[in-house]
Amino acid sequence: MYKSYRFRLYPTTNQIELIHKTFGCTRVVYNHYLEKQKALYDEGKDSLSCFDMIKDLKNLQVERPYLKEVDSCSLRCSLFNLDDAFKRWYKGQGEYPKFKGKYNSKRSYRTNCISSTYKDKTYQSIEVDLKRHIIKLPKLKEVSIKGYRDLEYLPGRIINATIEQASTLKYYVSVLVEEDDVYTKLKPRKIIGIDLGIKDIVITSDNEKIGNPRLIEKYEKRIKRCSRELSRRVKGSNNYNKTKKKLAVLHQKLKNARRYFIHQITKKLVIENDIIVTESLKLKDMIEEKRLSKQLTNVSLGELCRVLEYKAKIYGKKYIKIDSYYPSSQECSRCGYKNEKVKDLSVRSWICPECGSYHDRDYNASYNIMFEGLKKYMMELK
Ligand SMILES: [Zn+2]
Repeated sequence: MYKSYRFRLYPTTNQIELIHKTFGCTRVVYNHYLEKQKALYDEGKDSLSCFDMIKDLKNLQVERPYLKEVDSCSLRCSLFNLDDAFKRWYKGQGEYPKFKGKYNSKRSYRTNCISSTYKDKTYQSIEVDLKRHIIKLPKLKEVSIKGYRDLEYLPGRIINATIEQASTLKYYVSVLVEEDDVYTKLKPRKIIGIDLGIKDIVITSDNEKIGNPRLIEKYEKRIKRCSRELSRRVKGSNNYNKTKKKLAVLHQKLKNARRYFIHQITKKLVIENDIIVTESLKLKDMIEEKRLSKQLTNVSLGELCRVLEYKAKIYGKKYIKIDSYYPSSQECSRCGYKNEKVKDLSVRSWICPECGSYHDRDYNASYNIMFEGLKKYMMELK
C-alpha cells in the first residue's frame, strides 16, 4: 500500500537557488525531447522510447553542462513524465503533450529513491530523519522539514520525493512510501460501538463521551463575534477589509483545529479496537430538534466517518456501518424491549419496564450499535 507524506520544506538560500535551477533544468529536458518527438512524428519516423531518451540524455548533458549541476534523477523523471504523457495521448486519454512554459507550469520536480551499496553498507538517495527533522535529497543534501511530530520514522520503503513551490511561495516535499502489509490478517479481539452526536461527538460502548475540544468552541465564538462586527462595517472600507481578513483567518484556524481533532480521535479508536461500528448518519433524527440543527452544519460527522473508514483500512481493521433506521436508542440493550417513549430526544435516561435496567440514552444506543455490528460481522463470516 502506498502512502504519501507531505512536509513543509525550509531550504537555505543556496538550496532555494538549486531547487529553482532544477525546476528549470527538468523543464528544458522535457521540452527538448518533446520537440524531438514532434519532429520525428512529423517526418513519419518512429518515436523514441523512454530508454532511448534516457540514453540520449547523456549527450545533451555534454552539450549543455549546466544540466550536470542538478540531480540527474530528476531529469530522468521528467522524461518518464513525458513518456507517460505520450502514452496517454496514444490511448486517446489525453491531449498531445504541451511545451512547459517558465511561468505557466507547475514549479515542481520529482526524484526517485535509489539504493546503492558501498563497503557492505546500503545508502539511499532519499532519507528522512524525523528525530532531527531533516530530509536528505540528492544534490541538496540535508534540508530542514516540519510535520508529523508524532511519528518516529516513516513506516516502509521510500519510493520517491516531489519537491514543489506552492502558489503561496512556500516549499513542500511529498514523500511516497510503500508500506508493508503487515496487518492483513485481522484477529478481532475488541469491538466498539459508536453513537455519533452533536454535543458529544462520539459516545462509545466503552462508556466514553468525547465532546468538541475547547479550542474549537473558542474559535466558533470568535467567528460569531467577528461576523457580527463585519455586518456593522461599511462595505469596502478599510475596517471592513480588515475584519474580513480576520474572519478568513479564524475560519482557517477552525478548519485546522477540527481536522486535527478528527485525526486524533479516529486514530485512537482505530488503534485501540479491531472492529469499529457506527450508524450511517441519522440526520433526520437530529434535525427534529431545531435548536440542534443549527449546529449540525458545524460538526463534520460525515468527515469523521470518512476518516474512520480509510484509517481502518490502513491499519487492517474492520469498519462497519449499520442502517440508520435501526432504533438504536429505543431498544433496551439488555432484553431487547422497544420503548417508544424514548423517541423523544429530551429523554436522556430511562428504566426498562421489562427488565428494570437503567439506561443512559446515549450509552444504550452505542451498546445496541455494537451488538448490531457484531451481528453483521458474524453474518459476513458465514
Ligand atoms: Zn430491558
